[in-house]
Amino acid sequence: MPAASLTTKTALVTGSTSGIGLGIARSLAAEGANIIFNGFGDRQEIQKLQTSVETEFGVRTAYHNADMSKAVEIEAMMDFASSFGGVDILVNNAGIQHVANIEDFPVDKWDAIIAINLTSCFHTTRLALPYMKQKNWGRIINLASVHGLVASAQKSAYVAAKHGLVGFTKTTALETAQTGITCNAICPGWVLTPLVQKQVDARAEKDNVDNETAKKRLLAEKQPSGEFVTPEQLGALAVFFCSTAADQIRGVAWNMDGGWVAQ
Ligand code: NAD
Repeated sequence: MPAASLTTKTALVTGSTSGIGLGIARSLAAEGANIIFNGFGDRQEIQKLQTSVETEFGVRTAYHNADMSKAVEIEAMMDFASSFGGVDILVNNAGIQHVANIEDFPVDKWDAIIAINLTSCFHTTRLALPYMKQKNWGRIINLASVHGLVASAQKSAYVAAKHGLVGFTKTTALETAQTGITCNAICPGWVLTPLVQKQVDARAEKDNVDNETAKKRLLAEKQPSGEFVTPEQLGALAVFFCSTAADQIRGVAWNMDGGWVAQ
């Protein structure tokens, strides 16, 4: 087995108590990175998650419950991360979705999506960069979406936030271009997580079909492979972005989407 590549690194993965963030946290831990978890959930379940990752991969973990819609709480989390050893790998992953036509879109949902899916990434990045610059090494990985590259109806706030995040990724990459810090975005298509299961449930209700049929219909509309992308596949891409082979990959928005944006 090849030696783990990230044994001296600490990764902060926002929104890592579920779905894609958890998959990426596990993949980075498998390479030896210590993990700072963040996200909502039952405290005891999160403790179990931490213990299982520590036992399985022999790494240290910590948890901070910052609400990513609140700058003050993000600042507290980044202070906490410094005391844990500093953030070498920052994965901006926390995100929410809401689906509605623009004229019906609740203003508070718009504000929350922009705050969590976009503005939080500015806060974590601005607070992580000084430490990364001091070490002249860092990896910033932004979980955008195919919706950072193309749009879908009824997802105005999400599409705006994810396009914004792809732009922010490019600016971050340019400002760090002559350092050992890289910043890139990952743009997944459909991944079957709680965020997407809600949309499957809504589709099942609307079409009066079962869960499996609703999944097939969602995939058929957008994702030519007809298969979901998995958190493990996204985790492997994140690990690659952390490797030396990826030293000169800067400012890309890399889609892993079963062919969604090739159409
Ligand atoms: P998920 O709902 O499974 O997980 C979201 C995570 O974010 C959870 O840990 C949750 O607790 C956390 N979170 C939500 N609001 C938060 C807040 N205010 N503060 C702190 N944590 C918060 O969702 P997911 O599908 O794993 O999505 C993860 C990311 O991937 C999101 O940015 C999403 O937009 C993006 N994405 C998902 C898909 C997909 O098909 N699932 C596709 C493209 C992009």
